[in-house]
Amino acid sequence: AKSRGRDRWDTVDSFQRKAATERLDLEHQLRAAITDGELELHFQPIVGLDGRDVIGREALVRWRHPDRGLMPPITFLPVAEESGLIVELGAWVLRDAVRAAASSADPGYVAVNVSPNQMIRPGFSDEVEKVLAESGLPASQLVVELTESVMLSSAPAARQEIEQLHNLGVRIVVDDFGTGFSALSYLRDLPVSGIKVDRSFTSGLGEDQQCDRIVEALIGLGNGLGIDVIVEGVETEQQSAWLAGIGVRHAQGYLFGKPSPRYELQPV
Ligand code: C2E
Ligand code: CA
Ligand code: CA
Ligand code: CA
Repeated sequence: AKSRGRDRWDTVDSFQRKAATERLDLEHQLRAAITDGELELHFQPIVGLDGRDVIGREALVRWRHPDRGLMPPITFLPVAEESGLIVELGAWVLRDAVRAAASSADPGYVAVNVSPNQMIRPGFSDEVEKVLAESGLPASQLVVELTESVMLSSAPAARQEIEQLHNLGVRIVVDDFGTGFSALSYLRDLPVSGIKVDRSFTSGLGEDQQCDRIVEALIGLGNGLGIDVIVEGVETEQQSAWLAGIGVRHAQGYLFGKPSPRYELQPV
């Protein structure tokens, strides 16, 4: 029994070693991928619910891995966050997204996801200003999507970067709204132009009374504060009609268009 016990620990140990090695491997590969041009952006339309005109596009990063094919962000963003590579990756995403928008004649905005670790670095808004100037894209055509955690950060640096982005004319939208924190005070203190209602609420619409009530309440909150409400993850005509019925103006989801490598792909 004693030796079996030891074998079991040896096995756990070797699993852990293997996982750690794979992680380090992925980190090395990702570092190279950023400089070798293996990352690419796909763009998903954000539409007006009435008429379904494209008002903006969200940039979503993918990694075209030479062996593993097109990898979704969930497979490499955690490693990027833990290793600090997110700063470099995020800088690439910002530049590429802004360039794509600048080289299109479309007047819609481009929305870029920015990680808290990228955001709280002093100089972030200076970098945004520089990228906009280099590309010629008006600041009004850039939206920065931040999660609630960074909005609630007590770090003065975070607040300062947000204020500075706002002063440039860049809009700030709170992503995955309603999933993270219940505090709402930042909506009063910080220059937030919109909230994105998370897909987890959308998927239950029409089936789950609680979801219906929560989404209605979020719309009320947005209207009351005079900020834009964008509902994510709309997949069906029923959801779309229901949302339009309660006064939602802007939405995003597979029903209107999936993320596509072409910037100006028309929604379906
Ligand atoms: P997110 O910001 O909430 O982005 C929306 C995600 O939902 C995207 O997944 C999108 O493809 C997916 N989606 C959109 N419409 C629908 C729908 O109707 N149904 C379903 N089932 N899914 C839909 P994706 O591209 O895999 O991205 C996952 C997450 O990775 C993003 O969630 C965001 O948090 C993060 N992410 C993506 N690109 C970047 C980036 O460039 N920088 C950072 N920091 N994070 C990123
Ligand atoms: Ca987002
Ligand atoms: Ca989201
Ligand atoms: Ca989400």
